[in-house]
Amino acid sequence: MLKGYNGKILRLDLSTGSIDYESIDEDIARKYIGGVGLAAKILWDETTVDTAPLSPENELVFMAGPVTGSALPKSSRYIVAGISPATGIWGQAHSGGYFADELRHASLDGIVVRGAKTHISQAPLSNEILVLPCRAMREDDKDYAVSFGVPVNAQGLTLICSEPEVSEAGNFFDHPIGSSIYLNDSTIVFDDVFIPNERIFLKGEWQFAGDIAYMFGNFHRLSAETYKAVELELFTGAAALMAEYNGVEKAAHVRDKLTWLTMYAEATEVMGRAACEHCVSEPDSDLVYPNPMYANIAKFFFADNWHQATKYVQDIGGGIVATCPSSKDYFNPETHNLLDKYLGGKAGITTEHRLRLIKLIRNLTSSYEDVLTLHAEGSLAAQRLSIHSLADFDRYKAAAKRAARIEDGTKHPVFSDLPDFPCQY
Ligand SMILES: Cc1cc2nc3c(=O)[nH]c(=O)nc-3n(C[C@H](O)[C@H](O)[C@H](O)COP(=O)(O)OP(=O)(O)OC[C@H]3O[C@@H](n4cnc5c(N)ncnc54)[C@H](O)[C@@H]3O)c2cc1C
Repeated sequence: MLKGYNGKILRLDLSTGSIDYESIDEDIARKYIGGVGLAAKILWDETTVDTAPLSPENELVFMAGPVTGSALPKSSRYIVAGISPATGIWGQAHSGGYFADELRHASLDGIVVRGAKTHISQAPLSNEILVLPCRAMREDDKDYAVSFGVPVNAQGLTLICSEPEVSEAGNFFDHPIGSSIYLNDSTIVFDDVFIPNERIFLKGEWQFAGDIAYMFGNFHRLSAETYKAVELELFTGAAALMAEYNGVEKAAHVRDKLTWLTMYAEATEVMGRAACEHCVSEPDSDLVYPNPMYANIAKFFFADNWHQATKYVQDIGGGIVATCPSSKDYFNPETHNLLDKYLGGKAGITTEHRLRLIKLIRNLTSSYEDVLTLHAEGSLAAQRLSIHSLADFDRYKAAAKRAARIEDGTKHPVFSDLPDFPCQY
């Protein structure tokens, strides 16, 4: 194997726009050592005494040597050579800095990716897109068992973005959340995007695809709990405030709903915390990750109960959540006093505050939020799969056997050392 070189040369023809890769001949690399040596050999072979310096036949060769980019002091140098317009013969310039290192490490080996992936949140705001494989892959899928990072402006990458649910940016009255936060989701199309080796983490090793996908899920689901716990606090607060503004906070069914919302919000928070506090550390490595069981249960729990929660909040809010006039009418001198008079709530609460709260509930219980909560970070089925595969059924079965006094010789580390159950009185 050729050491000190990546083994390929990139050929750019500015007249035709063509881009080609060419292998470096090992014998030549050994004979003509260094950037100067290789550049001289190329120019000797490909130009003649008659080549005019400023003609398309002249070549500009950017070349690094075998020690460029290594730990050797002062090795970050590269050369640019060609037929010089000043002399009509060989001309060379040397330069240092980061470019030399980048040139040396710009691997021309890699993979070409074609296809599309939808739903990618905030992609246009990112520097890099991280691409992961699917969970269940077999040997036949190995061409697709890839994981890599790609700059968002890479050649061949197209981002087709979703429309914001709210298009009136800055209209905080009507869309308190939607006008200030826009989750931009895009469909990303890869049109023969070249990914160099140094950006690839998985290249055909299909056996590890599931591990990568599951590990991503652990972190991603925990990240959802952290934002959802805060959102649910706000959600429960909006319902409690609305009940107060409407003067129904003491009604038995409203108190029940507020109690349920409180349990829902607090349980989501606690499960997210449990995933962090009972994190898993991988032996023989520095890797620590969220507890997969708790992270999956927390995501499933809040997503599965979300529609029940929005139902309660919308119920307390009343039909006005759907039919409320817009801020344009509320602040229109012709209609302001009418709306102030007829859309007010309990005495002592201003109509403006009530309307602001109604708009917040409308925003929080929108269909975008519904779908986001259910599907983002994986659908309910995805968490069920993880939870089932992580479940320690042997432990649960051992507990049941102990209680039922089933002695079948199987031992379990948690239960075999415990006294008999139920205890003798
Ligand atoms: C707002 C939002 C943001 C998102 N952001 C990102 C992101 O940044 N990056 C990212 O990678 N993804 C993102 N997602 C994608 C999210 O992970 C998926 O939406 C989710 O995994 C569900 O997949 P799907 O949308 O393809 O639905 P589908 O897979 O089509 O699911 C629809 C229904 O079909 C069922 N189903 C599907 N296949 C089967 C089967 N084989 N057997 C039985 N039932 C099946 C599902 O359980 C579900 O009930 C985002 C989604 C949303 C809504």
